[in-house]
Formats: sequence, C-alpha cells, structure tokens
Amino acid sequence: MGKANGSRECAPDDRLRVPTFDILAEMVGTARCAFAHPTICVKESMPSKKDQELIDAATKAISRRYRNDWQEVGAAMRTRDGRIVTGVNIDAYIGRIAVCAEAIAIGRAITEKGDHGIETIVAVRHPKPGEHGKIAVVSPCGICRELIYDYDAKAKVIVPDSGRAPKVVSIGELLPNKYKRGIE
Ligand SMILES: [Zn+2]
Repeated sequence: MGKANGSRECAPDDRLRVPTFDILAEMVGTARCAFAHPTICVKESMPSKKDQELIDAATKAISRRYRNDWQEVGAAMRTRDGRIVTGVNIDAYIGRIAVCAEAIAIGRAITEKGDHGIETIVAVRHPKPGEHGKIAVVSPCGICRELIYDYDAKAKVIVPDSGRAPKVVSIGELLPNKYKRGIE
C-alpha cells in the first residue's frame, strides 16, 4: 500500500477522481501515490460526482444569499426521487429561534415537492468578511442530526474529515442511540 496524501492509504484499484472542489485541490496539491496515480486515490466513502453536485449546490446557495451574521450556511439535499433542494440558515437576534440551513432545505422539499425522504444532505459555511479560508463543508449540529434522522433514518451526510476531502457517512453513525418516543 502506498501513501497518496497524509495518512490516506492508496491501493492499485482505488477509483480516481480529479478534485474539483477548491479546498480539496488546495489540500491535495500535486500529491502522487506509490502507484503513480495522477491526482489522488479516492476511497468509496469520499464524495462521488453526485455528492459533489450537492456540495456545489449548497455552495452556490450561500454564495448568492450570504449576509454577514444572518445567512452564513448553505445546505443542499437530494430527495429520494433525485431532486436537489437547497436552503440557507436564518439567524436571529434571539439565537434560540435561529433555524439551520438543513432544516430550511428539508422544509422546502416537503413544502414544494411533497417529498420528505433524504438520500444525501450537506451543509457548507461561508467565511466572514476578512476571515481566512473558503466556503467549506461543515458537520450538522446535534439538532439537525435529530431532524435528518427523523425524516430519513437511512440518509447519508457529507461531513468534513480533519482537513482531508469531505467524506460520506450515514446519519446513524452521527447519532448513535438516538432518542425515540415510546418503547421501540
Ligand atoms: Zn443545525
């Protein structure tokens, strides 16, 4: 096994993908693995082309609607029938009434499409003015983990991976021993 980049191990049959995500491109640079793969060896848990579409949709949503302190996070979800629905967070003076971008996207999917299934969902955060860094994938907060699980216990979530390319996990992995009403 060779090392492609950092501690990520690379195997001869790893599928390959040219990074299109700015932060990924920055991180990977010109890394080559021992098998002479041209860019990076991508594990199956890493975002597919469809997942990258979601990251791009969330990035576009918050790029268009960003307002310092009010709209800083964009989300995108793919419904079970393949439609992409986006949302941005709505912050508030009274912090506890703020609503996360994921919840807005789920609400829009239900309202506009009548679809409450979540195949995959992702959220990205826009940096504040003067803040170093670019729009990047962020983990769902605890409340959103509950919400995503409630609406689709088999949902996949794209999350950051310690400075590496974002990875895809199941909502169950993010919320073990989830609270349920009644005895189940
Ligand atoms: Zn949240």
